Amino acid sequence: MTAARHVAALLGGEPAPEPHPAYCVRCKQPTHAPVPVGYIERASGPGWTQYACPSHAVEFGAGPTPEDELRTP
Ligand SMILES: [Zn+2]
Repeated sequence: MTAARHVAALLGGEPAPEPHPAYCVRCKQPTHAPVPVGYIERASGPGWTQYACPSHAVEFGAGPTPEDELRTP
């Protein structure tokens, strides 16, 4: 089995869903791999999450969260 066929089999023959694009708060460029780096609170309504592209996310101190820890059963 070729790698391409293996991937197609894993995906069930359907194309992968397009990730939701977000704009990096640092370089203002759209990224398809946004990393949440902050949350802005607003008094007049719901806040919003700030995202950064992977290359800028490290500048915000983004790193593994407790949910990313590998757990052994
Ligand atoms: Zn960026």
